[in-house]
Amino acid sequence: MPTIEPHGGTLRNLLADATAADALRDEARQLPKLVVSPRELSDLEMLAVGALSPLTGFQGEADYHSVLETMHLSDGLAWSIPVTLSVDDDGAHRLGGADAVALVQADGAEPLAVLRITELFSRERAKEAKAVFGTEDVAHPGVQALHEAGDRCVAGSLEVLKLPPHDDFVEYRLTPAETRAEFERRGWRTVVGFQTRNPIHRAHEYLQKCALEIVDGLLVHPLVGATKADDVPPDVRMRCYEALFGGYYPKDRAMVSVFPAAMRYAGPKEAIWHAICRKNYGCTHFIVGRDHAGVGDYYGTYEAQEIFERFEPGELGITPLMFEHSFWCNRCEGMASPKTCPHGEEDRVSLSGTKVREMLRNGERPPREFSRPEVADILIDAMRGAGA
Ligand SMILES: [Zn+2]
Repeated sequence: MPTIEPHGGTLRNLLADATAADALRDEARQLPKLVVSPRELSDLEMLAVGALSPLTGFQGEADYHSVLETMHLSDGLAWSIPVTLSVDDDGAHRLGGADAVALVQADGAEPLAVLRITELFSRERAKEAKAVFGTEDVAHPGVQALHEAGDRCVAGSLEVLKLPPHDDFVEYRLTPAETRAEFERRGWRTVVGFQTRNPIHRAHEYLQKCALEIVDGLLVHPLVGATKADDVPPDVRMRCYEALFGGYYPKDRAMVSVFPAAMRYAGPKEAIWHAICRKNYGCTHFIVGRDHAGVGDYYGTYEAQEIFERFEPGELGITPLMFEHSFWCNRCEGMASPKTCPHGEEDRVSLSGTKVREMLRNGERPPREFSRPEVADILIDAMRGAGA
């Protein structure tokens, strides 16, 4: 019994099977080559394994504008961020009207996939920045990445020869079909997904466990594609998650696997996109905290929660679970939030991100009510290693 239908009803698998792969590989060697950027390589992987179902390739112009203007594909299905493949003018010229192109990770590398080209179109950078990020400010990391991408987009369906190779988190790279099979094996009918690009402190552990009280299972699903340079690197985060899972999470009720996407920092639009992707992984519920996928002060505290109201009931399928920020309260003698604790700031253990980083840099553990000591020690070691 599946937990939930994939978005649009069909879980895609764009990997060519063994019989098709030989012919496809021969064909790919004869085709013009296009080097794919690390961010778009993450999207290629997501498309290949069905994390972006029902998409079967990089989006065309009609879908691009429809998503920017209406948060829906041109066929009416909810979708909040375009998935495009960039090409600069030179690259577009080199394609020379070809009807297929081989996608490679670097010059001279073996082709990863063949894109059957349906169209080439011009990116509308200002419109895309405003619609996706709510700003055209190039100091925003998503807008900056958009400016580094080519002026044109090449669209079409994908036939994938192999996934981009990885040598990290190998045992954690479950595809949507694999997480779904694992949920079924564990007998989970309802599963809550938790997106993160940060180490997990007590506050987020509490949100996850509150959610887990009402569903069968918890999927902690850290994003491991590109993030901004000052985010904690994924290998350090993974050691923190392993420490938590080793000591504080029930093995039959919680699991970790990685989410190969790159971070957009698109706040509310990315909250919707993250929820849709997790639905494809088989999650029935999705945790949306304050300022989900935010950066700086580009988004309002609750915007990423409020945007879910702009969809008709049932349109997204997955159920968002909205949370306030949480903390340890000395008088409640437990984790709490402004919804559940009547006491004042003086009773609450809360620390700013800046303060926590300063403590860790000085080799000092934050209070155990804020951070599990095992997690604090890993972060202290990592900061020393980085010489920060
Ligand atoms: Zn209290």
